[in-house]
Formats: sequence, structure tokens, C-alpha cells
Amino acid sequence: MNLILFGPPAAGKGTQAKRLVEQRGMVQLSTGDMLREAIASGSDLGRECQAIMSRGDLVSDAIVIALIEARLKEAEDAGGAIFDGFPRTVAQAEALDAMLAKLGKQIDRVIRLKVDDTALLARVAKRFAEQGRPDDNPEAFSVRLEAYNRNTAPLLPYYADKGLLTEIDGMGAIEVVSSTIDAVLAAPVS
Ligand code: ADP
Repeated sequence: MNLILFGPPAAGKGTQAKRLVEQRGMVQLSTGDMLREAIASGSDLGRECQAIMSRGDLVSDAIVIALIEARLKEAEDAGGAIFDGFPRTVAQAEALDAMLAKLGKQIDRVIRLKVDDTALLARVAKRFAEQGRPDDNPEAFSVRLEAYNRNTAPLLPYYADKGLLTEIDGMGAIEVVSSTIDAVLAAPVS
């Protein structure tokens, strides 16, 4: 089972991915987490990406595709992945399809968490105050939202055309969103 959690920054993808890992033993592949680890480790890759990320821009397709490729086989061998924050461009989605096809796999479901911009801004202001993540500052966050609307939202028709997309309300309490996701996963693929 390969699931993409889709939605704007701060929609709750990471929270839900981590829960699914705990409850179902799925493997989370979060390019944002991988890039933050690279920065924390002081690697060349981390140095290359740090400024781009703190501005709120997307890092290059080649970098994130390579990060996913390095972990994909292991995730597939473990039963499948939850993709969180990847793909973010049509080129990444096409590369993901090709990498999965090589392993005889495919994306099974895409769940979009719908959260309106006002709620996102409130969530991220709170997270910035609590955790101080550099790209949660208001300027970088508005760049991230723009990148989402420009580069990532066009992926919705890509997956809708394949019949893989389910849209759910991401505005409710975490537990409510969790049970909606569980219901989607329990339903047969249409
Ligand atoms: P969020 O979903 O809250 O925006 P992420 O942790 O997924 O945060 O990503 C943080 C930043 O990492 C992004 O703003 C971007 O700079 C970079 N990044 C993560 N994943 C990708 C990706 N698939 N393509 C390009 N850049 C990415």
C-alpha cells in the first residue's frame, strides 16, 4: 500500500503520517524531515538546501527525487510508504511513478487534507511561537503557500485523472481527521 498525504504546508500531513506509522507499521517518507536531518548533520546537501528552505522555496526536483529513491526499496519491502511532502511538482510525481513501476508497485491512494488559508496561517503562527522552525516565519510561510499553489496544487488533477484522489476536511480536531483517513483507507479503491 502506497499512500500520498497531500495538502498545503501545515495541513497536518506529518501528524497523520506519524500516527499511521505507529498504528499500522507503515513507513513514512518525508522529504522535509530528510532535508532537515541533512541540515542538522551539516552535510554538503544540508548546506546546499538550508538557505532555499529557510526562504520557503522548493529545493530542486533532482535532490528530493534522489532522497526518495535512496529509501524507496526498503519502504516497499516493508509493505509500502506514506509519502509526506513528496511529490510537490508534476516532475516529482512522474519520477515517483517511474521508480515505483521499476519495483512493480504503484501509488494506491492520494488523500488531500483541505484546510483554508486562514486556519493554516493561525496554525503556523502557533507552531513558530512554540518551535521556532525557521521557515514558519510569516514571510517564508507565504512563500511556501505560493509554492504550493503554483507547483503542487497542479498535482491534484494528475491524481484525480488516475482515480486515486480522495479529498477530506482537514479543519477538524486531529482525532476527527484521523478517523476520516481511517475510513478512506478501509474503503475499497474505487
Ligand atoms: P511543510 O509541508 O510544512 O511545508 P515540509 O517539512 O514538507 O514542510 O518541507 C519543508 C521545506 O523543505 C519546503 O518548504 C521545501 O523547501 C523543502 N522540501 C520538502 N519536500 C520537498 C519537495 N518534495 N520538493 C521540493 N522541496 C521540498
